[in-house]
Amino acid sequence: MMQFLETLHAEYGQLFSVDRVIYREKTDHQDLVIFENAIFGRVLALDGAIQTTERDNHIYHEMLAHVPILAHGRARNVLIVGGGDGGCLREVARHPVDQICMVDLDRKVIDLSKKYLPSLSDGAFDDPRLTLEIADGKAFVNQTDRRFDVIVVDSTDPIGPGAALYTPDFYAGCRRCLAEGGVVVTQNGVPLLQEDEVRDSYRALKHLFADVGFYLVPVPSYTGGALAVGWATDDPELRQHEYATIAARYDNAGLPTRYYSPAIHVGSFALPPEISAIFG
Ligand code: SAM
Repeated sequence: MMQFLETLHAEYGQLFSVDRVIYREKTDHQDLVIFENAIFGRVLALDGAIQTTERDNHIYHEMLAHVPILAHGRARNVLIVGGGDGGCLREVARHPVDQICMVDLDRKVIDLSKKYLPSLSDGAFDDPRLTLEIADGKAFVNQTDRRFDVIVVDSTDPIGPGAALYTPDFYAGCRRCLAEGGVVVTQNGVPLLQEDEVRDSYRALKHLFADVGFYLVPVPSYTGGALAVGWATDDPELRQHEYATIAARYDNAGLPTRYYSPAIHVGSFALPPEISAIFG
């Protein structure tokens, strides 16, 4: 039986049995593979790092989209940076927002995810509110005239093209195109294994925003413990909403969630002391 060993960390990796390789290609930007595993279903990997799986992507994508949008409460324009598999777009599109802009560097990730992982986007690439830009996210946020209430950074890890999405220049661009009262969330790695990522992002964001923090999401295929999602805004109230406020917004939105709930939303901002200590 073939196997896929994740090579994200030099000293430690998870091993998947591969029932079938569905597709493999070196795109202009990344080494892409989609394979089938008995537990996780179809799995997308880029440059040796697991990106998403059919089995557990809802946990990550629901939390990446619903936490900032429901905390904001009146988001009209949402930007997704990265997210080429379409899972984040699927969840953002469940909200009654006016416009969704998605910027991904690699058209191949989008096209191949639509073809081989159709449940990820579930038709959301056809949403008339979507503007799709094939561009580097860092260049986009530093040039666009558009302004966004919520920016979701659904990036690869800071290796290869994704490294640009962890730089002070990128975060400054996010600040530049964030509307007043807006919030930015960023995929920030697993603190147990990627402590520097959390520390560096915190320092860079703290220069730019009044309120910076993280919330935690346990995604089984991002091995090593809970994933940290960076949170940056000038409005400290956004991450201090009471349960009742979030619950009322959730009920109003009628979201068909499997992992996200208002209680999990509020609780996800509680950090173990050892994680707070990384940036405290
Ligand atoms: N959820 C995944 C994770 O946590 O690793 C990320 C999934 S998504 C497939 C990551 C996307 O980021 C890919 O589609 C990739 O093409 C895109 N990407 C990487 N670097 C980028 C950049 N500089 N600008 C825009 N998109 C980028």
